[in-house]
Amino acid sequence: MTNKIMYFIANWKMYGNLKSLNTLDKVIRFSKSKEIKKGRLIYCPPYTLISSFLKKFENCLIDIGGQNCHESEDYGSHTGFVNSKMLKSSGANYVILGHSENRQKGETDKLINLKIKSAIKSKLKVIFCIGETLSEKKRKKTKSILSKQIKLGLKKIKKKSNIFVAYEPVWSIGTGKIPKIDELEQTVEFIKKKFKGKLPKILYGGSVNPENIRNLKKITNLDGFLIGGASQNSKKFIDIVKKTYN
Ligand code: PEP
Repeated sequence: MTNKIMYFIANWKMYGNLKSLNTLDKVIRFSKSKEIKKGRLIYCPPYTLISSFLKKFENCLIDIGGQNCHESEDYGSHTGFVNSKMLKSSGANYVILGHSENRQKGETDKLINLKIKSAIKSKLKVIFCIGETLSEKKRKKTKSILSKQIKLGLKKIKKKSNIFVAYEPVWSIGTGKIPKIDELEQTVEFIKKKFKGKLPKILYGGSVNPENIRNLKKITNLDGFLIGGASQNSKKFIDIVKKTYN
């Protein structure tokens, strides 16, 4: 049973509309109850819902993040994008960067590095996603892939206190599969060792649900979870938090 601060980041991806706001009432009640213990809840809805979520969470401690941002710190002609400054001014305090769904669409480590730098300048906390694909795992490349993603993604970034590293094996996202617990424990340890001095917070993401959380919480060196599918169901999201602490 853990007694430490744990972060539960809800990644809503490209889901949700104004009607979805009603489903948050349960979570708001939960966030004000003693049952939340030391859990910290952060919702990352699509951009279109950030201001509505913010209003909804007015009287509670649930925080807000964006799911990506443009690398430019300036305003400019980038149709369809928002930058970190705009995210911050919308009320977000976090941003997810380097998600595999965006890496697969062509985001490079170099681009992710620029985005992280810009997010830090805008005073956003960064949820920096890293992870290997199934074929990389099969070829025993996990460690070298993670090392490369960390090295290039965080290049020339000295202050890492506002960075959360989210280890998300690509083969685990949305598939219902999670790594073996001893393997995951070793990978989290490996990631921690990459950082000298102050260690960043480390999250795990990939098919976290109310059933497998009992196993995942055995990994004591994790600081929380990045939760996709299950976070859109308030009961499941609450259950994950409760079971982490019980
Ligand atoms: C994610 O997309 O960050 C994620 C963890 O998704 P899921 O929980 O649905 O696997």
